[in-house]
Amino acid sequence: MKISTRLIHEHNVKHESGAVIAPIIMATTFERKEDQLTFPQGYVYSRSDNPNRASLENKLAILEGGATAISFASGLAAATAVFQSLKSGDHIVMADDTYFTMRTIVNTLYAGFGLSYTLVDMTNLEELKNAIQPNTKLVWMESPSNPAIKITDLEAVVQIAKAHHCFTVADNTWATPFYTKPLALGVDIVLHSTTKYLGGHSDILGGALIFKEQNERTEFIKKVQQYSGAVPSPFDCWLLCRSLTTFTARMPIHSSNALKLAKYLEKEKKIDKVLYPGLPSHPQHTIAKKQMKGGYGGMLSIWVKGGQEPALKLCSLLKLFTHATSLGGVESLIEHRVSIESSDSKTPDNLLRISVGIEDINDLIADFKQALKLL
Ligand SMILES: *Cc1c(COP(=O)(O)O)cnc(C)c1O
Repeated sequence: MKISTRLIHEHNVKHESGAVIAPIIMATTFERKEDQLTFPQGYVYSRSDNPNRASLENKLAILEGGATAISFASGLAAATAVFQSLKSGDHIVMADDTYFTMRTIVNTLYAGFGLSYTLVDMTNLEELKNAIQPNTKLVWMESPSNPAIKITDLEAVVQIAKAHHCFTVADNTWATPFYTKPLALGVDIVLHSTTKYLGGHSDILGGALIFKEQNERTEFIKKVQQYSGAVPSPFDCWLLCRSLTTFTARMPIHSSNALKLAKYLEKEKKIDKVLYPGLPSHPQHTIAKKQMKGGYGGMLSIWVKGGQEPALKLCSLLKLFTHATSLGGVESLIEHRVSIESSDSKTPDNLLRISVGIEDINDLIADFKQALKLL
C-alpha cells in the first residue's frame, strides 16, 4: 500500500465505541492486569510511552521508511538527544548553514562536555574530507539549507562519512519525505522539526528522529526520551497524526505554488536573485533534480535589490504573506532572516525567506505584484 493510505489507516488508537477517529488518551498512568505484574498493552506511565505517541511514532517510521521513530517535544529536543548520544572528546562536522541553533546547543548546553565541531560548506566535498578528524563521529547535513537553500548531495556525503566511520544525520524538515528520502540514500538518522510541514498548520511544536536501523545509539536515544521526558503531549501526538493524514495532499500544492512564485519573482526587476532548487539557475539544480523526487518543496529565498530597507518595506507591503518566523504551514510567511539569527550570522541583509502556503497561486503572485509596484 502507498504511504498516503498507510498514514490514514495504520496504527490508529482504537476505541471500544467504534469511533472512526482515534481517541486521545490523556491518562498519565495505566492499570496493571489481573496478575498484578503486567500491563494490558505494555503502557505503564506516560513519560515512557502513551498510545497516541506510539501511534505517531509508527506513522513517522512509515513516512521516512525507517526501522523506528522517536518523538520529542520540539525539533531541537530531538537534536539535543542526538548530541547527548556522543561522548566527551567527540567531534562533529556540520554544514556551515545548518539551522543556526544547532551549533548554539553544542556551544552552550554542551560547553562543559568536550564536544567540538567544524563547519563546512557541504556542497564542497573536498572541504568535508579535510574537516574530518580522527575523533570525528558525526556528520550533520541539512538539505535544502536554511536560508541559503543549498542542496547537499546526501549520498556522496554518506559515502565519505562511512569511509571515516562516522554516523550521519540529515535534517529533512525542509525537503520532507515527500521529496527526499535520506534513509534510502544511506543516512543513519533523519531529524524533523514536526512543527513545520509534518504539522502543517503552525499550531503544534514537535520533533522526531527516524532511524535506518535499530542499534545501540537508537536504544540510548530512546532512554534520553524516556528518562528526560522532553516528549510531546498526547494531544500534540493526536494533532500531528491528524496532520499526517493530509500531508501527501498538502505537499504538492506547496511545491507547485513555490515553483510558480519563484519563476515569477525571477523576472521581477526589483528582485536581485531567487534561490529555489527547482529553478535551472539554482547552483545545485542538477543535484536537486537527482535527489528530490517529484518536486522541490515549498521554501525559497529572495534577495531584494537595494539592501535591508527595501527588503523590510516589501514585507510591510505584502498583504497575504505574514512577516513571521517558522515555515511549513498552510498560510504563506515571509521573513527577514538576518534580524532573527545570531550576531555572527552571514545571511545577507536583503535576503527574505518565503514559506509558500497552499493559498491560490494567482492570489499570491498578485500580492507580490501590488507590493513590488509600490516599492
Ligand atoms: C524549525 C527548525 C528546527 C527546530 O525545530 P523546533 O521544532 O523549532 O525546535 C530545526 N531544523 C530546521 C531545518 C527547522 O526549520
